[in-house]
Amino acid sequence: MEWARDALEKIERTRPQRAEQPPPKLDERAMDLLVRDYHPDHADMERLVEVGPNAGTQRFPHELADLLEADGLLPEDFHPSVDLATDVLIIGGGGAGAAAALILEDSGLQVALATKLRLGDSNTVMAEGGIQAALGPDDSTRRHLADSYAGGHGKNDAELLRILCERGPDRIRWLTRLGCLFDRNGDGTFRLRSCGGSSAPRVLACRDYTGLE
Ligand SMILES: Cc1cc2nc3c(=O)[nH]c(=O)nc-3n(C[C@H](O)[C@H](O)[C@H](O)COP(=O)(O)OP(=O)(O)OC[C@H]3O[C@@H](n4cnc5c(N)ncnc54)[C@H](O)[C@@H]3O)c2cc1C
Repeated sequence: MEWARDALEKIERTRPQRAEQPPPKLDERAMDLLVRDYHPDHADMERLVEVGPNAGTQRFPHELADLLEADGLLPEDFHPSVDLATDVLIIGGGGAGAAAALILEDSGLQVALATKLRLGDSNTVMAEGGIQAALGPDDSTRRHLADSYAGGHGKNDAELLRILCERGPDRIRWLTRLGCLFDRNGDGTFRLRSCGGSSAPRVLACRDYTGLE
């Protein structure tokens, strides 16, 4: 790290002198050179990849191209075999998979959950707007269902939608018991907001990271 120390010392030593200097004005030629040498579209920072669906057509920064062309980390003769007995195997660890796992485990079944990334690496954790449930004094399951059916232009699976709307409030209470925080009013009741297509305030949120919560 000798070079880093030298560089830092040089920066400190020359700071007062540089602070007095106005930044140099670049003429057209100097600007062209700057762009040619450093702009990713001009400098030699990218190359065509030679393998995969983008072979010969797509340019990538060298570091990414090297990675895309690299051998896999697993040896070619690696044949994984899983020896696992379980009552239920859930594929996917987003909100749906994780909720199913918790509920099934509560009912005494042995549950295994397999997900292609880390648990929670999912669309669910990216949802920031909120989650809907008919919990307001002016709201009802029928109203939630009618709004959603209209919002779906009648293409919704009516039976699934009925289950979603009927069970929504209970699921919110279940999440709360698990420790999920939702925004509250001063009197402790859930803070419900309106959203496009809802005829009553129905959206619960946890600030702007509801899915992560
Ligand atoms: C940016 C963003 C904002 C959103 N905002 C909202 C919102 O405010 N309100 C709202 O209601 N909805 C919102 N949504 C939609 C909502 O997040 C999704 O509809 C919901 O999270 C889907 O949940 P899920 O459990 O079905 O799927 P996911 O959360 O996507 O989980 C799928 C899981 O399956 C795993 N998986 C996938 N393929 C495989 C495989 N082959 N093998 C093993 N595992 C696999 C994934 O790794 C992941 O863990 C938003 C979505 C995004 C992306």
